This record gives sequence, structure tokens and C-alpha cells, in this order.
Amino acid sequence: MAKLKILKVGDSTLRKVCRPVDEITPRITRLLDDMIDTMRAADGVGLAAPQVGVLRRVVVIETPDDGLIELINPKIIAFSGEQEGEEGCLSVPGRWGITTRPMHVTVRALNRKGETFDITGSGLLAKAFCHEIDHLDGKLYIDIAKMIDN
Ligand code: ZN
Repeated sequence: MAKLKILKVGDSTLRKVCRPVDEITPRITRLLDDMIDTMRAADGVGLAAPQVGVLRRVVVIETPDDGLIELINPKIIAFSGEQEGEEGCLSVPGRWGITTRPMHVTVRALNRKGETFDITGSGLLAKAFCHEIDHLDGKLYIDIAKMIDN
């Protein structure tokens, strides 16, 4: 396991659309492990593969209430409600903005064994699902946020 370098806003890799994972190879499971180390070392709630320079649809999320969640090829299949609140990003250090996101989000993804599962999150987890899946399509929260630091 290793800590990877997190790319910062302005790096064109963050604006690219990521390719799906079609086979879960040891390289993908190692990527998941390294992304978990990197997220924890940076004290983040979530991390998407393009943030560490890998254009694949892979996400890790960890919240105090929900624990560790690994998502391969995640898709939002349902959402409802609305929440407005602060959002930040490890690729946009030292900045915060206010976003409006759904309050409840259901995601369908593969786990590291290649099994499909659905997971529903509310509040912070719903926000993290939206934020991290946006990364896989080259979108950053600053595109939709009202920034509060300047
Ligand atoms: Zn982010």
C-alpha cells in the first residue's frame, strides 16, 4: 500500500471522463488500497481515481457513520430531497463552497470481488456520492458551488 500524489485543480487530468473498469485485476485492487491510504492520510471523506491520476471509474469514501465504501463503476440510480451546505475537495485545498445536493442518493456499483450492489446514503454520504461520481466525469464541485472564501 502506498500514499499517492493528489492532483490539484488546474491539472487537465481532473477534467477528463474516466473509463469503466471492465476487469478487476490486481492493479485495480491495489489502486483501491492505495486510494484508501491516500484518503486517510489527507483526512478526506472521499477520493476518486482521477484525483490520483488514474482515469478509471473507481471511488473510495469513508465517513464516521458509514465506514469505508469502495465503488467500482458507480452510477446514481435514484435520488430525492435536497440539502444545502459546505463542500470541499482534496484537489481544491483550503477552499470551501456552498452546494445544493440531493439529501438521499442510491448508487449501484461493483465491489472489489466484482459483485453488483446498491447502497443508499443520506446527508454527508449522499453528498459524497455526488461529489466523487462527478469527478469520474471531469466535474468539480467548484463548477456548481457558491465559494465562501473569496
Ligand atoms: Zn473532490
